[in-house]
Amino acid sequence: MKALSSSVAMRKRLTRREFLGEGLLASLTAALAACTASDGSFTSEAHATPTFELPDPKGLHEARHYRQLTGNTVQCQMCFRSCVVLEGGWGFCRNKVNIGGRYFTLVYGRPSALQVDPIEKEPAFHMLPGGTIFCTGTASCNFRCKFCQNWHLSQRHFNEMDHYPTTPDETVKMALEAACDAVSFTYNEPTVFYEHMFDVAKAAKAAGLRTLCHTNGGISEEPLAALLEHMDAVTVDLKSFSPKFYREISSAELEPVLRTLQQIYRSGVHLEIVNLVIPTLNDNMNEIQQMCRWICDKISNQVPIHFNRFFPDYKLTSLPPTPVETLEAAAAIADKEGLEYVYIGNCPGHERNSTFCPACGKVIIKRAHFHLISLDVEKGRCGFCGHPIPGIWWDV
Ligand code: SF4
Repeated sequence: MKALSSSVAMRKRLTRREFLGEGLLASLTAALAACTASDGSFTSEAHATPTFELPDPKGLHEARHYRQLTGNTVQCQMCFRSCVVLEGGWGFCRNKVNIGGRYFTLVYGRPSALQVDPIEKEPAFHMLPGGTIFCTGTASCNFRCKFCQNWHLSQRHFNEMDHYPTTPDETVKMALEAACDAVSFTYNEPTVFYEHMFDVAKAAKAAGLRTLCHTNGGISEEPLAALLEHMDAVTVDLKSFSPKFYREISSAELEPVLRTLQQIYRSGVHLEIVNLVIPTLNDNMNEIQQMCRWICDKISNQVPIHFNRFFPDYKLTSLPPTPVETLEAAAAIADKEGLEYVYIGNCPGHERNSTFCPACGKVIIKRAHFHLISLDVEKGRCGFCGHPIPGIWWDV
């Protein structure tokens, strides 16, 4: 889901040259931070020399899911990186800082993006069709995807962004005032603002709103289990089925994402999967077939999958947009493997923007891009033949 640039303002407007300089520094820091400790976790000794000035801990929110090690060192347990952070250092995501042996998050109550969107834009196609969702995001990310469509938000440090002080209760109030049906945590990776997300989700559920998280899936098992208690739906980016792609294009790992997908499905929380198809990088049809087969075998053929069109952005501006034929070929493979709800995204007007009943073949949710045209799902069933359709519906 791409954030509108109008909703995100950078405190310090960087020139392209300045940005590239900052990016290089971040890359060097990340490269140094990528040394692994004896237990296999990422150590961030390089962060002992902070990239950014240490903030005053007064008023900062203490992070969740970390442990204290000896000598005022901490280990974050929020995502697959398990950053080991020395006193005065920052986590890989640059949102968390060790001050005096306590770990703090900078972004609690300080989102950098607040926006009302159609729920379909997440994407979430089996959740309150035609509804509106109050979206929130912050600075930074725990991945470094070269193709990021929201890089102006996700690849920035908190200090480089404008932020809008908003408590969880105020967020919910704004969502209700905007007559939204749900709140979502999106644009950048919500795992890096977990503490804020958790409290907003809890308050939103108490106020009768639905909740959705759009994630890269790198979150650890324990924080995810706690979060799912307050989440109605999760959209996960499965960026590729290749560990090499994850390592080289996203500076991340595939395996934790696969584990996350299975954990979400097992929890009963509604799950949708997005695969951004990028020319030459992850458009190999054998790999797409393996991915679809894995989803059917290890999760379910009922999970909606969205093959989204890539447009040149961030560090991959030399690649062309994904040909529509490539997306259609991927969708045909997903059909053949048995996935029942297969969509093509970022292609306004394509017939696969709509939902077809897998039993009778009729269009049950007609869409043009993110806009709802007609809805024939009644009490969670096809309005024509009565076949059950997974999702979160208005009348159930
Ligand atoms: S959430 Fe941030 S600090 Fe924590 S392990 Fe992940 S990248 Fe490291």
